[in-house]
Amino acid sequence: MSCDHSTFKASVSVTRLTSEEGGPVIGYTADLTIRCVLCEQLFQFEGMERGVSRAGPRCSFDGTEARLPLTPFDEASFRLAMRPAEGMA
Ligand SMILES: [Zn+2]
Repeated sequence: MSCDHSTFKASVSVTRLTSEEGGPVIGYTADLTIRCVLCEQLFQFEGMERGVSRAGPRCSFDGTEARLPLTPFDEASFRLAMRPAEGMA
């Protein structure tokens, strides 16, 4: 009897990116894997290039780990960007 994959478990870890071993942190990625709880089947991400990049989502060579670039949230910059333009309020 095959599994209909109806229940999932997601695992996330955050990786600090450096350009060299022991060098300064230049970015972060949230590394995500999805697995069926019932049969433990790993799922593969589609439509992503392989590797690691700060410019956009990538995945592991086998596609089972998504690597999503992220940065610390800057609330002040967010509020500034969301502020209505002069004369629009
Ligand atoms: Zn399953």
